[in-house]
Amino acid sequence: MCGIFAVVNDKTNQAAQTTLEGLKKLEYRGYDSWGIALIPNNKKTIKVDKHIGKIGQAKTYLPTGSIAIGHTRWATHGGVTDKNAHPHLDCKKEIAVIHNGIVENYKELKSQLNKKGHTFRSDTDTEVIAHIIEEKIKTRSINEAVFSTFNSLAGSNAIVVLDRKTGTVIACRNGSPLVVGLGDGQFFLGSDVPAFLKYTNRVHFLNDGEGVTIRNNGIKINNLKSGKTITFSSQVLDWKLEDAEKGGYPHFLLKEIYDQKITIEKTASLNADGFAKISQMLNQNYKIVLTGCGSASYCALAGKYFFAAAGIDTQVYAANELMPFINLLGKKTLLIAISQSGETADTIIAVKAAKKNGATIVAVVNAKGSTLERLSDIVLSVGAGPEIAVVSTKAFTSQLATLYLLSKSAVGKLEHGKMNIKKLSHDLKNLLSPTLIKRLIKIATSLLDQEHIFIIGKHLNYPAGLEFAMKIKETSYLHAESFAAGELKHGVITLIQKGTPCFVLASTDDAKDEVLSSAAQLKARGGRIIGVAPFNSREFDEVIKTPDLGDLTIFPNIIVGQLLGYYLGIGRGADPDKPRNLAKSVTVK
Ligand code: GLU
Repeated sequence: MCGIFAVVNDKTNQAAQTTLEGLKKLEYRGYDSWGIALIPNNKKTIKVDKHIGKIGQAKTYLPTGSIAIGHTRWATHGGVTDKNAHPHLDCKKEIAVIHNGIVENYKELKSQLNKKGHTFRSDTDTEVIAHIIEEKIKTRSINEAVFSTFNSLAGSNAIVVLDRKTGTVIACRNGSPLVVGLGDGQFFLGSDVPAFLKYTNRVHFLNDGEGVTIRNNGIKINNLKSGKTITFSSQVLDWKLEDAEKGGYPHFLLKEIYDQKITIEKTASLNADGFAKISQMLNQNYKIVLTGCGSASYCALAGKYFFAAAGIDTQVYAANELMPFINLLGKKTLLIAISQSGETADTIIAVKAAKKNGATIVAVVNAKGSTLERLSDIVLSVGAGPEIAVVSTKAFTSQLATLYLLSKSAVGKLEHGKMNIKKLSHDLKNLLSPTLIKRLIKIATSLLDQEHIFIIGKHLNYPAGLEFAMKIKETSYLHAESFAAGELKHGVITLIQKGTPCFVLASTDDAKDEVLSSAAQLKARGGRIIGVAPFNSREFDEVIKTPDLGDLTIFPNIIVGQLLGYYLGIGRGADPDKPRNLAKSVTVK
């Protein structure tokens, strides 16, 4: 869940500064603390600079040098303190280690090392790695020592090791993401591409079970178990530097909300082959199961409604609750797994188990080169580009568009679906106007001191409401709860008092009258009713009008929630790009 960065043969000889800049691009992955280890030009000792807190505007005064590694932490073992920040050193301070994951057997390893006389400076699981390497290097090369150490760790991990003596950076991967950037004579490592996109878009996504050794003169990849050298081919990504910059917006979140003017339409040009393959399988009586975590699970639920409209029955499970049902997924199952990062641990676990049972795996994923992509039989890439803000917006709507198009393609109506997406994109450009923003800021300002916000929706607007509430919670820490409109009278309505803010999400569909009747029930209890819909109604005290797009009306309805969350967050003094306690890709169980 952390951010990893490394540079070897930094052309500017300012490896610490390059690393600091790279880490700033990865801060969304963890912001408990940050740290850098550098081999200075005199090569005498490894220099370390580490601090708790967000990297934000931080500076480092490490000396010049051309090799450095760096880390932003999302603590799992050991409190958020300076001493627990990565990198961690061995006793002799010859080896520095940064780590993403959990060393599940660290207690046992630590007690063995204690017996051998090693002294620990932190409470982390990570530090054992540096000390094991210190032991192993006594009898073998740095490569062999690192690989063998990594093989002795239980759990999903990625590590990067800096060795002072040989001026080498060695990284190993099993379950946590790592990508190598091949620049012009200089080399990079990152948990994600935006970290080094400024220098290169030529990359190699490290596979599980691979280790990479980087020296000034080049890189080498080995199989971690057999030690054999692996020939690899790099790929050039079509991502541009602007994709990973704020582009004049005050926050990535706001930029990414606006990016949706383009990204949703871009999604419509992708995946024709994948759609055709899946449609064929559906004709052979495959059944669809949709899964994901958090927003991706709401996307899965919305997908269920899209497929139902096409006459296709599907099942939906949150990936973290799929295991009791895993044996119901067999050879004739298409498991559609949705994830922004493709590294979500709960989703990966479910996918691996379903694969074992013979299910065909379809990945709906935004990031490139992810574990999920590799595990899948069919990849539907959503193409929203790098999403930096922790709160998902553009990746979510592109995932949703992908499911919509798949449901259309399954009944031979892909072109029709694409036309609808085009219309959606056009209407979104009009919706995202200064008038809307002014309106939303006004509404957000009136809600800043509320304790609870309720949201209702029916049919497609039910999952849309769940996502709407999630955006408000994540970005502003305000308690927002969404319910299926029909559930209200079965319990929830008891929470409504005079002035309780209630958003009512609606479309011009079969559910319209019923959702308005639920709105009337809320109003009768004194609720303040704010409609988010293509129409006004006497049940609404206020309305935020969204374009009338049939099933696709949920896109603008959700985007209103994204913006509202953003302005509520700003008003309440939260950092919209980095909500407390969250990290972008949840690579732990
Ligand atoms: N388990 C390690 C720690 O708590 C690494 C956490 C991370 O991936 O950031 O320091």
